[in-house]
Amino acid sequence: MTAKVFVITGPSGVGKGTLIRALREQVPGLELSVSATTRDPRPGEVDGIDYHFLTQDQFDSHQESGDFIEWARYAGNRYGTLSSELSERLASGVAVVLEIEVQGARQVRSSLPDAVQVFIDPPSEESLRSRLAARGTDTPDEVESRLQTAHSEIAAGKEFAHRICNDQLEQAVDELVAIVRRELDS
Ligand code: 5GP
Repeated sequence: MTAKVFVITGPSGVGKGTLIRALREQVPGLELSVSATTRDPRPGEVDGIDYHFLTQDQFDSHQESGDFIEWARYAGNRYGTLSSELSERLASGVAVVLEIEVQGARQVRSSLPDAVQVFIDPPSEESLRSRLAARGTDTPDEVESRLQTAHSEIAAGKEFAHRICNDQLEQAVDELVAIVRRELDS
């Protein structure tokens, strides 16, 4: 049996990270792929845990070597999933969760067609604005840029096999857990 890959996608600020944390508490054994990025670490973020923080040159070199399963430009930075985050785990039967934006999720759809893709919707675009502002990690310009991108990302939601609205967190977690358990059991 091949281990499963779960892709959790949706706009920045929709709560993907919170949902994945709750999912992993309820479904033990799921491992999280640590993405590579050229963005600067935010206060408290740890290299190798939150992201692999790379220089532009390091990211270029991984791209040239074909090390990424997917990568995308997002809000002025590059983000990507290194194949090394998946290969050993999948070979040893460990299911992996990817938290990525929509362009990357589309690439995974063609490179790993068996991956289970879940799109997370915000209850409204206004709710995204307040969450991004409350998070306090982005400048007002960055918040605006993320919201503009969110608009087209939400329009892409219909491409995804599973779609969950993160209105009530507990209910959204229950829906995500149900999808993942069903796929793991199938
Ligand atoms: P942030 O800068 O807020 O950590 O992430 C910005 C966006 O990039 C989020 O939507 C996040 O899910 C996405 N992201 C994080 N890692 C990856 C990755 O490896 N690939 C892609 N395509 N997007 C990613």
